[in-house]
Amino acid sequence: MKDVAECPVCGQHDFLELFPSNYSGTVEQAAAFFLTDRAKAVHGRIARCARCSFVLTSPQYEPAQYDQLYREVAKVERPPGRTRAVSARYRSLADRVGAYAKSGRFLDFGCGDGHFLDHMPQFQGVGLEVRSGVAVGTNANDCRIIVGELEPAVTAGLLKPASFDFITTWDVLEHLPMLSRDVGLLRSLLKPGGFLFCSVPNVASFAAKLSGERWNCYLLEHLWYFSPTTLGAFFERQGFATRAVRPFLFPADVTTLASRVQQTYGLRLPVPKAIANWTLPLPAGVMFGAFQLKS
Ligand SMILES: [Zn+2]
Repeated sequence: MKDVAECPVCGQHDFLELFPSNYSGTVEQAAAFFLTDRAKAVHGRIARCARCSFVLTSPQYEPAQYDQLYREVAKVERPPGRTRAVSARYRSLADRVGAYAKSGRFLDFGCGDGHFLDHMPQFQGVGLEVRSGVAVGTNANDCRIIVGELEPAVTAGLLKPASFDFITTWDVLEHLPMLSRDVGLLRSLLKPGGFLFCSVPNVASFAAKLSGERWNCYLLEHLWYFSPTTLGAFFERQGFATRAVRPFLFPADVTTLASRVQQTYGLRLPVPKAIANWTLPLPAGVMFGAFQLKS
């Protein structure tokens, strides 16, 4: 494991510990604690930048080790269900994007099986998904889905420079070990004045403050914990102007909620079948950001 040497938000080198790691296993055992079907919610050592207060996981595994972990999780994780809750979430995000863009070509970075692309029929969508097995060639709207990693896809010319009007990336940035490099690559794919829309956990949210170390977004696979201030500062440093950063109510169904409670608190809540698919907009501490490439 390696300590983060430089703050991706302000470039400074001093970090203070917020919470010690509560994961004692090896990297080989870590896949069981990654993503939706994790055995238990655990996190690495959580630290804060002494200058800009950006919160991050440090030390982190090597990028190649994260790649390997995601490959292992993809082998056993059930395919993401197209539940009512997930549809409600994508509908809401599509509405937010629609406030800035009416037509054009976009990339959904971390597109899964293309579910969000299906919510954007008025646009020409391209998806990129690193986990093979969840993605298919094209989806209902004939959007193209590329299975692979960002850098090789850019290098091979599968994704062309300055070819997208906007990029969406939902709950992805916090997973990227090479965050600054990857956002730089995404920036190179945007046309002048193009937008990047993202959703990420908000470490300054009420949910995060109320839950402390037990906030459900402190997780082994989450490497970066933005606040509205540090998210804006990060994108400004990357050559973007902040257009909006807003809280996002996270539609979740009762079954998912009960599973998260069990992973965090070890409490098994019985979920009556009649309400298992009920969808609630939860203040889980997630935010939506809209950033525009500076000309
Ligand atoms: Zn900093």
